[in-house]
Amino acid sequence: MDNQKNHEIRLKSRPHGLPTTDNFEFVETAVPTPGPGQVLVRNSYISVDPYMRGRMVDRASYVPPFQIGEALTGGAIGQVVASNSDAVKVGDYVQSNYGWREWFVANGGEVQKFEPVAGLSAHLGALGMPGLTAYAGLLRVGALKDGERVFVSAAAGAVGQIVCQIAKAKGCYVVGSVGSDEKAAFLKSLGVDQTINYKTAGNLAAALAKAFPQGIDVDFENVGGAHLEAAITNMRPGGRIALCGMIDMYNATELPPGPNNLALCIGLGLTIKGFVVPTYYDMLGDFQRDMAKWVKEGKMKWRETVVDGVDKAPAAFIGLFKGENIGKMVVRVGPDKAV
Ligand code: NDP
Repeated sequence: MDNQKNHEIRLKSRPHGLPTTDNFEFVETAVPTPGPGQVLVRNSYISVDPYMRGRMVDRASYVPPFQIGEALTGGAIGQVVASNSDAVKVGDYVQSNYGWREWFVANGGEVQKFEPVAGLSAHLGALGMPGLTAYAGLLRVGALKDGERVFVSAAAGAVGQIVCQIAKAKGCYVVGSVGSDEKAAFLKSLGVDQTINYKTAGNLAAALAKAFPQGIDVDFENVGGAHLEAAITNMRPGGRIALCGMIDMYNATELPPGPNNLALCIGLGLTIKGFVVPTYYDMLGDFQRDMAKWVKEGKMKWRETVVDGVDKAPAAFIGLFKGENIGKMVVRVGPDKAV
């Protein structure tokens, strides 16, 4: 490890509006040496996720803000290279929150050993946090019943692609909204019944009315803004909105007014329930069991957009807000020996 260098991304300044690569700093450091009880890990893949935008703002939230001058953190998958911990040994694959860097040292308890059941990167996407978000959000928060009518926004993304397929596996009628025809074709290949390209559809409420002549039972909301308003207009009585994300406003410099049709929730008896995935970790076992079954039955596929090099992580992250990913956006920062 003597001549090996680590590279990491630090927050240089807090973004105003859409982040730029100038908000980030690419730094070279020595590969750290593990102390007693510690492990040295070489990351293979790191995750960039929309929620990280919120952590770039200096405010209290369910996760603390990133600090200027410090390396960013986030989901990562890597392999143990040296270990002074009884919990993990050299060669083990581990998940951690030490993303945005190539190498790291951590206490043995800070990394979670896992057996890869697919390509390593899938454990940051379909088989990881975004997959569990889809599963918990749709089945518990959205209280989906077999055969219902489901609308999914940002439907070709990391979470959305899994939501669509779980709903199809449950015999539902599924409509997804996306920002490009290529993404629409991808969803069709997954068996999604109808797609709406929100950039070319014109009036979104009218497009949803056409796609859902009988209304929507469950809206899996990833976007917010005009999407949420259009969904509310088209909900069926007793409908549920699983409020997973509102990416449309993550870079807003002035907050747009909320949906102007919330009064519809009264007469229709709608439920709007926000959630964050850590609340639903009790579903992990069920999620892993069901995903394994659906994969085996050919009911679960996924795509990833893989960007190479930790220096490209800021651009990959910014790309999430420009629709540059199909499926999960991941950054490859080291070797992938598992597949
Ligand atoms: P995605 O992989 O879906 O990537 C983001 C996608 O959102 C883009 O590809 C783009 O697709 C779409 N998008 C970006 N900006 C806009 C916009 N202004 N209007 C409409 N669509 C936009 O990300 P994830 O699957 O990781 O996350 C999806 C949502 O789920 C996010 O809101 C995220 O914050 C939330 N989330 C919430 C979690 C929770 O615990 N509650 C956990 C994980 C994610 P397109 O080309 O179709 O526009």
